Amino acid sequence: MLHGLMMQVPLAISSLIEHADRHHPDAQIVSRRVEGDIHRTTYRALHRRARQMASALQTLGLERSDRIATLAWNGYRHMELYFAVSGSGLVLHTINPRLHPEQLAWIVNHAEDQYVFFDLTFLPLVEAIAPFCRGVRGWVAMIDRDRMPAQSKAPLICYEELIERGLPDYVWPEFDENLASSLCYTSGTTGNPKGVLYSHRSTVLHSYAAALPDALNVSSRDCILPVVPMFHVNAWGLPYVGALTGAKMVFPGAQLDGKSLYELFEAEGVTCSAGVPTVWQGLLGHVEANNLRFSTMKRTVIGGAACPPAMLRLFQQKYGVQVIHAWGMTEMSPLGTSCTLKGKHADLPEAERLTLQYKQGRVIYGVDTKIADVDGSELPWDGKTFGDLLVRGPWILREYFKGDGGDPLKRDAAGRGWFPTGDVATIDADGYMHITDRSKDVIKSGGEWISSIELENIAVAHPAVAMAACIGVPHPKWDERPIIVVVRKPEAQLEKADLLAWYADKVAKWQVPDDVVFMESIPLGATGKMLKTRMREQLKDYVLPT
Ligand code: AMP
Repeated sequence: MLHGLMMQVPLAISSLIEHADRHHPDAQIVSRRVEGDIHRTTYRALHRRARQMASALQTLGLERSDRIATLAWNGYRHMELYFAVSGSGLVLHTINPRLHPEQLAWIVNHAEDQYVFFDLTFLPLVEAIAPFCRGVRGWVAMIDRDRMPAQSKAPLICYEELIERGLPDYVWPEFDENLASSLCYTSGTTGNPKGVLYSHRSTVLHSYAAALPDALNVSSRDCILPVVPMFHVNAWGLPYVGALTGAKMVFPGAQLDGKSLYELFEAEGVTCSAGVPTVWQGLLGHVEANNLRFSTMKRTVIGGAACPPAMLRLFQQKYGVQVIHAWGMTEMSPLGTSCTLKGKHADLPEAERLTLQYKQGRVIYGVDTKIADVDGSELPWDGKTFGDLLVRGPWILREYFKGDGGDPLKRDAAGRGWFPTGDVATIDADGYMHITDRSKDVIKSGGEWISSIELENIAVAHPAVAMAACIGVPHPKWDERPIIVVVRKPEAQLEKADLLAWYADKVAKWQVPDDVVFMESIPLGATGKMLKTRMREQLKDYVLPT
């Protein structure tokens, strides 16, 4: 056996910010702060403060791999912690503040968080959960000293005071690249959330792949505004990708409404962005209502939930912003596929190119994928046959934190483990994957499957519809039948019969929803996705007209 004779340099998260400091020292990181102002720093200054914070963390009596949590918006202090915590051998646990306080306290205790860093917006939340989080040794308010609350029910530490305890010439330690770096919990729509524990190696490899031209396509010439929160799978890796490429970063803080986002896009020359479809609804609504244009924005990544074709067309055809439809999950760090076209598609008529773009796209190198039937037999890549989607790769979960849920993987004939995503998909001959549903949302009617996503996409393409969710309702003869829950656009007129007629030439007759239910709003989960579990509860007494 002959081993290669190349250096064994561990893939460490600290190397990303070191690189940015050395090669892009003056590239900017701009943040809208909870203090209300716009803050500017650079990779060099951020690296200095990250090392200072890493050194300050050493004064807190922590041990390697202890968990440090954040309850914070997208901003430069949060980014400092991304590097300070992981880079010094601790584990950064980003918590979604939109969770129910009880669930939040459960997560803090399960993760055994030692300190919790939080934006002042979340002080009431911190005060509510502190009595139930006995293991937490301190709550660090990420705020200037002069804005610290005069008193609080929780023992508070000021971020800026803490950082001053550290030395900026701190040297990042070297350790095994497989060391845990960060922790995110799944949203837990069924049962308790489960922890996904990333490593330095998985994070650096994922960042490399995410930056590729056929993935998120990020370079040093870009200005990235991640709308996706840093508590939602590490903002899809964008803070790391920013440091890896030297791109300018713009953080929107707590103001995620269309007007505030649009102003930041224009003022800072944002070229690319990323977020779930629901946030783009707000931004596009503002742009449409005020007859605005994007002057620098070139592309946006839309994922986390299916991007409605009508939104994709509006972005591209009216505003000249390319949409990269992407798919992934917390268990996948999160990126799995992104939808960019191949050279051979360049001459396709626009309608056909768009049809391809509605799919979730091709896997990024590093992720392997297959579709299988209930027995685990692999299904063909013909763009029609759908089955359970399974994945494997170096940034995909092997086991949940603390072994929760047992062994999640399914073995193939060669004994290799595959992670079952819970999604149902088709894959075509070119490898383009199309999610037809979450396996628990797919509507099983008369032995056939109806895609809830497809029926939602048709509804939101109707000019009077703002949002739509399709759910299956038990039916004595057909097992389940689809109904469509709709939120009308403000002041729009829309009757049930209009919408049902809208479906007539778009799907087979048996796929047309049995009913339309109008609602004021659709409940959204902690990551901005439609909460179908909640809707099913709300509609538990609903009776089908058929
Ligand atoms: P999370 O772990 O909260 O990010 O949720 C992951 C799940 O979101 C996936 O398993 C999919 O069901 C769904 N998802 C993510 N991206 C997309 C997409 N582009 N289209 C449809 N579903 C998506």
